[in-house]
Amino acid sequence: MKSSRETIVELDARYVWRPYTPMGEEHRAEPLVVERAEGVYLYDRDGKAYIDGNASWWTATLGHQHPRLLSALAEQSQAFTHVALAEIAHEPEALLARELCAIVPAGLERVFYSDNGSTAVEVAIKMCLQYWAQNGRPERRRFLALSDAFHGETLGVTALGGVSAFRRPFAGVLMDCVSVPAEEDESAVYERTFSALCDHVRANAATLAGVVVEPLLQGAGGMRTYPPQLLTDLRKVTTECDVFLVVDEVFTGYGRTGTLWACQQAAIAPDIMCLAKGFTAGILPMAATIATRRIFEGFLGGPERALYYGHTYCGHALGAAVAREVLRVYEEEHVLDAVRTSAPKIDEAMRRLARLPGVSKPRALGMMGAVQLGTAADYLQPLGKQVAALARRAGVYVRPLGNVVYVAPALNIAAPELERLLSVVCDSVAEVAARNPH
Ligand SMILES: *Cc1c(COP(=O)(O)O)cnc(C)c1O
Repeated sequence: MKSSRETIVELDARYVWRPYTPMGEEHRAEPLVVERAEGVYLYDRDGKAYIDGNASWWTATLGHQHPRLLSALAEQSQAFTHVALAEIAHEPEALLARELCAIVPAGLERVFYSDNGSTAVEVAIKMCLQYWAQNGRPERRRFLALSDAFHGETLGVTALGGVSAFRRPFAGVLMDCVSVPAEEDESAVYERTFSALCDHVRANAATLAGVVVEPLLQGAGGMRTYPPQLLTDLRKVTTECDVFLVVDEVFTGYGRTGTLWACQQAAIAPDIMCLAKGFTAGILPMAATIATRRIFEGFLGGPERALYYGHTYCGHALGAAVAREVLRVYEEEHVLDAVRTSAPKIDEAMRRLARLPGVSKPRALGMMGAVQLGTAADYLQPLGKQVAALARRAGVYVRPLGNVVYVAPALNIAAPELERLLSVVCDSVAEVAARNPH
């Protein structure tokens, strides 16, 4: 027998510690109790439909319950689900690795599997540190990152992150890392930021293990975009100084920015690329860190040179089977062509919205569009929550970042649903802006 909606809400409130949520009674928002999902829709216990405006934390790039992905999952589950990737190989992981190497930027030739975006970046920083330690440059121990960067949850990648609300509790125990400030999202400010970043690389190459960036679009730090040329320039300087460039495509990968990888728009190849969110299009947690041959070869030799890193579930057979099918669906269903049609509509809606008083900083890139309400942009600002509540009543699920309201729907969202998503978000933003004159 099915539990009632009330029972679910009550047990959740009683026993579950929610992610990224103030847990005090007075802060508790009524959860949306999802019963099923299909395409871009989430359905609650009463059968009410909600357009999933953030593709379930940016993962469901092909919508929910894509039949081809479910078939791949079912088919692999008939054979086996998970085996240790130690002294065992299997078709899904081996073929997926070859398929990934064929489509990532040139020079990336070795796939290291893990479970999620945080671990994908965590292993990247360990690869950099250990590479230099055992290849003649042991003094290279520090990383450079952007302020408002977000690279995940482990203590290692928290050190790379620049969102102060996420860092503050861990001050004093985070790895030594230099953040270069990007105070605003106007491209002139990013230009200054990247110029400072490049200067820092030139001046401190001797002690730098790597530079880690989200390419073109800083996601959880506030949906800020910057011009591809800046990334192209950073690649040039890191190459000249022989400092590794790690590109975190966890959010931007799998077509979110309009090209399969954001790196392509800057025409660069990083030393290490990190993939997760769209990897299985939201079906299973799985990630990959893809490195150059040079980095891989820096670990060859005796057992003392190996990378002692590996998560229990790495190379998961179900995840790998689904991830292979994801790549085929992108190709055969022309997903990136659909993005070319939809992206301008998102851009246009954000620009229109930003003409309202109290709404500013429209930005859009591929299948992401955002605006800011009020004047402050930090994560603890309250206006986005008000927008989300109004949107939910109108049948749209969004999850803003403080005062920054954004949409990041499935890439294959159809025109009528996209129109509905944008119109509900615009109306909700307009109403909150009108209520909060400044
Ligand atoms: C979400 C995200 C991560 C962390 O991924 P998880 O799967 O949540 O651990 C890392 N980097 C970027 C850019 C992200 O957007």
